Amino acid sequence: MQITKEQLALVNDRIRALVASGSFYGKKLKEAGIDHVDSPEDFVKLPFSEKSDLRDAYPLGLMTAPEDRIVRIHSSSGTTGKPVIIPYTAKDVEDWSIMFERCYRMAGLTNMDRIQITPGYGLWTAGIGFQAGAERLGAMVIPMGPGNTEKQLTMMQDMKSTVLCSTSSYALLLAEEIEKRGIKQNIHLRKGIIGSERWGEKMRTYISEKLGIELYDIYGLTEIYGPGIGINCEHNTGMHYWDDYLYLEIVDPATGEPVPDGEMGEIVITTLVKEGAPLIRYRTHDLSRIIPGECKCGSRFPRIGTVMGRTDDMMKIKGVNVFPAQIEEILKEFPELSSEYQIRISHLEGKDTMRIYVETNGTVDFLKLASDVSKRVKERIGFTPLVKVVEIGVLPRSEKKTKRVIDERYD
Ligand code: ZN
Repeated sequence: MQITKEQLALVNDRIRALVASGSFYGKKLKEAGIDHVDSPEDFVKLPFSEKSDLRDAYPLGLMTAPEDRIVRIHSSSGTTGKPVIIPYTAKDVEDWSIMFERCYRMAGLTNMDRIQITPGYGLWTAGIGFQAGAERLGAMVIPMGPGNTEKQLTMMQDMKSTVLCSTSSYALLLAEEIEKRGIKQNIHLRKGIIGSERWGEKMRTYISEKLGIELYDIYGLTEIYGPGIGINCEHNTGMHYWDDYLYLEIVDPATGEPVPDGEMGEIVITTLVKEGAPLIRYRTHDLSRIIPGECKCGSRFPRIGTVMGRTDDMMKIKGVNVFPAQIEEILKEFPELSSEYQIRISHLEGKDTMRIYVETNGTVDFLKLASDVSKRVKERIGFTPLVKVVEIGVLPRSEKKTKRVIDERYD
């Protein structure tokens, strides 16, 4: 989706602010001799920004507005090394709550909802973002924060919470506890707003059925405001995102080149109006795609697909980028297959080859099934894998996350 004139004007405004402030990215742009972009072609030549840059700017190198206008910081904790510190102005905080309120409205929430918030408060952006959006909506907030399941369930019943905000794993835990205690009839939840970790359809259905609620995926990352920059609508055809605040590109993670709409790649985000720490072409390493066309809900906001994993999972076969999630998606379309599979990539006679091992029971024609799966992969992804069908139970299973992709090319 090409950047529009209006969005370009906003980007130029952000470039000017960055350069004028002499902040971390301001200096980088100045050194590269960039003070504005004229066209979409110019825009895609702008350098990317990376999480490692943000770490290098620790503690306050990203600060682009004068300090008297900074009202808050948030921080994303890296698993290793220095955290990233993101400064916010009052306008940034307000913009974020506006986006979050839109998310709630998109999910059909009103000022009569009672929203139980279980993500954490503090340096992390989650809890406070859920809260600010809910207050803006005029709903009643029950600001629980994480953990203490006993108290969560008591409040959920006594306050008659109608909306649960949580991670998918915590929603699952609550669903199981409610089932175990037989207290379903005391629960008044109608919707769940779930922070978009990657979660399977099975888990989604389980939570939705056990709690009797509709589930919505909310997207966001601390570097870009926090959660609340996109959410799916009732039609569940991807997440609408707020293109008046953000410009999203999908690029080939290997080359950095934009991919056509509809194709899978890495989400790259440019903040259009952020003041405290504007980011230009920030690489999220999240995999998704632009969903072309208009949504049945009639919203004018564009959509991205559910996040399908991280770019680190990418494989390159015969010049085509492939992600395990794409293969998994295709395999799910064959009801005769079990949920186990294994992908092996090898280099045979000068060619990259992908073998996909799948399982089925003995009642189907193995050869025909293999050929059908192989054809479907060719249609969707663009290369022909070797598909091997085996009996159910043959593929390795383990308690831990089973290693499903084995790349033998670099052994
Ligand atoms: Zn929609």
